[in-house]
Amino acid sequence: MHCPFCRYDGSRVVDSRTSEDGLSIRRRRECPECGRRFTTTETASLSVRKRSGAVEPFSRDKVIVGVRRACQGRPVSDDDLAYLAHKVEETIRSSGQAIIDSHDVGLAILGPLRDLDEIAYLRFASVYSDFSSLDDFEEAIAELRAAHAERGAAEA
Ligand SMILES: [Zn+2]
Repeated sequence: MHCPFCRYDGSRVVDSRTSEDGLSIRRRRECPECGRRFTTTETASLSVRKRSGAVEPFSRDKVIVGVRRACQGRPVSDDDLAYLAHKVEETIRSSGQAIIDSHDVGLAILGPLRDLDEIAYLRFASVYSDFSSLDDFEEAIAELRAAHAERGAAEA
């Protein structure tokens, strides 16, 4: 990190705090060369451990690609998908872990996807949770119905 005043490379961090949305870290730095202080905003690194054990950087695009497939033919816009990926990243980052399992990424997708489109949710859940029979679908649909009933009761 170069000092913006004298270009000296090698500042000292005097304070850091995570932004409210958990997406970035603000660091207060001091230059040991000229003594001036400056602030940097850095994106906290977040990695995903895949089932194979390989670790790769978290990518919103990959979330979108995975969800888009489940949304085929559904009234879901690119904006909806971008917002969903943002929610997923927020959820994951709020856990405070630097590396998370790809399984947990899927888990973080289920909630916002259910709010977005229930058919897409069922498609995604069937692949993600390895639905093997109609019973699995029936169970998931029963859960959605129960949630509807609850919401209806809350609104009444
Ligand atoms: Zn300096």
